[in-house]
Amino acid sequence: MDDCLFCKIVAGEIPAEVVHTTERTVAFRDVNPQAPTHVLVVPKDHYADAAALAAGDPETSAELVRTAAAVATAEGHGADYRLVFNTGAGAGQTVFHTHLHVLAGRDLGWPPG
Ligand code: AMP
Repeated sequence: MDDCLFCKIVAGEIPAEVVHTTERTVAFRDVNPQAPTHVLVVPKDHYADAAALAAGDPETSAELVRTAAAVATAEGHGADYRLVFNTGAGAGQTVFHTHLHVLAGRDLGWPPG
């Protein structure tokens, strides 16, 4: 996708603080962190949201979660972290390339806002 921000980060065309990569995923720090650890895990291939990725490439969908767990563990929060997929503009999705938020390092209230 030529105009996709996260495709450009995956391609190295836009800088990001990458913390972990796997065969099918890239994890980088969110530019506007909402917790001491706030990392986005994205598939290298473009899918608009979590459901599209799960339907089109279920193995990468699972790898996204494995990568998120590895990131949380590497940051010292392997037992307590939150994973979030915002899906659709009404739920707060602003970048339409699947991304799994990894949030940790502070008390995380429930329900979320
Ligand atoms: P969402 O609102 O769920 O679509 O999440 C998109 C996230 O991408 C937000 O938390 C933004 O802060 C983050 N973001 C936007 N631009 C960048 C960027 N260039 N590098 C890293 N994170 C970004």
